[in-house]
Parts: sequence; C-alpha cells; structure tokens
Amino acid sequence: MVGMSKDDSFIDELSKSVAKTTPSLYEPSIQYSLPDPDAKSKNDTTLIPVIIDTYIREAIKKPVTKEGSAYILKAPEYFEKKYPGETPLVKIGVSTDVPRRINDLRKSCGLFGLEQVEDNENIRHRLYYKVEELVHTELANFNRLFKCGRCKTKGKDTEHREWFAVSEEVALTTVQRWRSFVLLDPPPYDDNGILTDHWSEMLEIRNVIWQQGGDERYDDHEKRNSRWERWLQEEIRATNRITYP
Ligand SMILES: [Zn+2]
Repeated sequence: MVGMSKDDSFIDELSKSVAKTTPSLYEPSIQYSLPDPDAKSKNDTTLIPVIIDTYIREAIKKPVTKEGSAYILKAPEYFEKKYPGETPLVKIGVSTDVPRRINDLRKSCGLFGLEQVEDNENIRHRLYYKVEELVHTELANFNRLFKCGRCKTKGKDTEHREWFAVSEEVALTTVQRWRSFVLLDPPPYDDNGILTDHWSEMLEIRNVIWQQGGDERYDDHEKRNSRWERWLQEEIRATNRITYP
C-alpha cells in the first residue's frame, strides 16, 4: 500500500486476522497458556490484545536476571580420536538449561560421548555469568578455538569458543572456587550486580598478592590455585571479622 511502511502493513495484517478470529475481547471462555519463552517460532499464532497485555504484565514482573549454572563438559573419546595424544578439551560455559545445551551440542557438532563433569557443588543462581567470566579469565592461556568440522559460519568452519586444554580437575577447581566466591554470605555483589565497597577495598589493599605470579610458569595450575585460594580465604576471614565482630 502506498505510504505505508513495512511495519504498518504488518500491524494492518495483524488486526485483520485478529478481527477474523476474535468474536469479543472479553469472551469469558478464552483459554490460553503462556508460551514457552524459548520457543523458536513465535509468529505462527496471532494473539488478541488482551492476551498480549497479560504477557506484558508477566514480562514486567519477571526478574531481569534468570538463574543458571556453570557447567563443564567433556568428550574424551571424541578428542582422543580427533587429536590423538593431546590434552582432551573441556567446555566451560553457562546455561539456564544445561541438559538442553548438551543435547544441542551433540546434534550440531557430532560430539559423541559428550557428558557433564560431575560437580557436587553445582547450583542454579543469578550470578552464573560472573562465574563464567572469572573462570574464562583465569584460564585464558588454555583457551582453544575448536573446529568441529560440521558447524559453518559464512561457508567456513565455525570456531567454537569456550573450549579449554585443561584437565577436568583444573576446570572443576576453578569453577568451584569462583562459584563459592560469588555465592559468599554476605554477598560480594549488591542487588544491582555491583561489587561491594568492602570487596573493592580488599582488592586494593591486598594487591601484593598479584605480584607473586611474576616468575610463574604460565601453566602452573597448582601455584595459581593456591594463590587465589589463599586470597579468597584471607578475604573471607577479614569479611567475617568486620561483619561479625
Ligand atoms: Zn560445531
């Protein structure tokens, strides 16, 4: 139609189909259920305005941050076959739905034998992205771009990120340490996700600890682990002294 933008015509079409299928906005027998928020196709049904309003109210009420968890995945047989003699890669990531993530990876990348590394401290929580950020930062030297050979981006092999050439134990220790940090009580981050003044000060005051890694081998997990574990424990003790004198 002349003078009508693409968006206008979409709304026009929408109102026509609503008019066709909706006898009354206040029809008492209307039955509906909230759609799966992660459903891929969202445009196969037309919703009447009163239902849209309900969804808007639900969306307003929903917390901004979902809960999720950090996971470690391994596929030792796959990597032994693909890269014999090399450290099998592990994937460290976060998801709001880990089983589905595993299924997707099995299908898309053909990772046979893919399974989650057992983590008896695993828990769903709101700061899971912070755990991932800290773990990925600490293990940056071990990050590998992994090409499964099946996924393509613009005709080229996709380089999957989040894969690391570390043992399961190193991955687990790192994930568990940073998870225990973000879940400390009292929390190190406030309700807006900002590091508390107390922890900001602790980072400044005790920065002597950073210099101890100067002549360390880049792959010395033991030293790095004990350094950060000590930092965390010292800060926890200091926090407890302040909070509960
Ligand atoms: Zn892939």
